[in-house]
Amino acid sequence: MPKIAVLTSGGDGPGMNAAVTSVARNAAYYGMPLIGIKRGYNGLLGLSDNIEDDVFEMNLDTVLDLADLPGTYLRTARCTQFLDPKVREGAAKRLKEMDVAGLVVIGGDGSFRGAQQLCRLGIPCIGIPGTIDNDLAYTEMTLGYDTAVNADMEAVRSIRATSRSHDRPALVEVMGRNCGDIALSTAEATGSEIVIVPEMPWSVENVAERLNKLIASGNTRATIVVAEGAYASMQPFDVYSYLKPYSGEIFEGEQMNARLLARTLKYMCHAEVRATVIGYTQRGCQPTARDCSFAFEAGNMAVVLLKNGIGNQVIGTRNNRTFHTSIDTALSETRNFKESLYNLINSL
Ligand code: ADP
Repeated sequence: MPKIAVLTSGGDGPGMNAAVTSVARNAAYYGMPLIGIKRGYNGLLGLSDNIEDDVFEMNLDTVLDLADLPGTYLRTARCTQFLDPKVREGAAKRLKEMDVAGLVVIGGDGSFRGAQQLCRLGIPCIGIPGTIDNDLAYTEMTLGYDTAVNADMEAVRSIRATSRSHDRPALVEVMGRNCGDIALSTAEATGSEIVIVPEMPWSVENVAERLNKLIASGNTRATIVVAEGAYASMQPFDVYSYLKPYSGEIFEGEQMNARLLARTLKYMCHAEVRATVIGYTQRGCQPTARDCSFAFEAGNMAVVLLKNGIGNQVIGTRNNRTFHTSIDTALSETRNFKESLYNLINSL
């Protein structure tokens, strides 16, 4: 049976360990030796600070109790050198020297681009979409996304207890650099009244107008969910000039962020808007059943494909079914933002 390898790359996310466990269990079942590569493409290239620990034989013992853990046991890293074709040739050579006949890459679109290049160098690769952002067009969900949304929902509920108690609006910043899906789903699931995302242009004045209307209609504890990357799609607003008269609110050169947006809305709406940035707690949670189930099926599909000598594929989910498609097709698809849901949330 062919020997295969597995690595995680890019940002960590809940469910990555469950996927690695599934790969290991399936490899063991089919009698395929499995190599674990730590710290993403860095580990493969001997570029990490822990070379002696980067490449090791995995077995069922290694993955025992791993599936439930958040983060990634295989560690993860970003590897800028991998953009260099010569460096990638070195990576393919190393895999061939180790007799590795196929590689499972768990990561986001950047990691998939790396895998695509390795396929072109004769290493069959299978990608499992491990990223909380849900920013891959070909699949309805990526590993970790459901967990992140559930974590954000819990956080909004907790924050709302204080909002309710003090009759005070809340601004909650969630993750999503270029993709507003986490913000959109969190706002939908929590019944938040305002959502701000990178995909849609927005203005501070319009958000203030909407918040003022909500307050005037008796809703004194509205929730505004903002994606971390949404400040890039904000219409020009000179936050420094606006907040400067209020001493201690802003330092020269500060760009718009959650705290400054909450402060601006405080003065525009005469309400104690408070900001909370949820941050990494979204990535470090126990994976949900949905993410674990997807990880289980994706690991199985990845190993079976490699066993049958098929590479250059990524695993995804559509209509509640796990499927695979070519890396090239997956990366060429463009995302469809749910604009009607966005409009609904911001108008009800
Ligand atoms: P993600 O996989 O979560 O999108 P990154 O975009 O940081 O995270 O990509 C992870 C790694 O994938 C990068 O550090 C790099 O090693 C590799 N990678 C990204 N883009 C490419 C590319 N165009 N070609 C080859 N490798 C790439």
